[in-house]
Amino acid sequence: MAYVIGNDCIACGTCIDECPVGAISEGDIYSINPDACTECGTCADVCPNEAISLP
Ligand code: SF4
Ligand code: SF4
Repeated sequence: MAYVIGNDCIACGTCIDECPVGAISEGDIYSINPDACTECGTCADVCPNEAISLP
């Protein structure tokens, strides 16, 4: 199970620099590579729009 970025993403870019394993990619809505995510939760903590969660 990996964290997932939902439609509330406003592409602010805050999360991408905080991921310790580089699992996050840019886009109109940012995305998380489920094979790389270690479920540390850091991205969810820093997202200003609460767009990242564990499904
Ligand atoms: S939960 Fe941690 S490892 Fe997974 S995408 Fe977020 S910051 Fe990266
Ligand atoms: S911090 Fe949240 S709103 Fe900003 S790019 Fe990441 S998922 Fe999207």
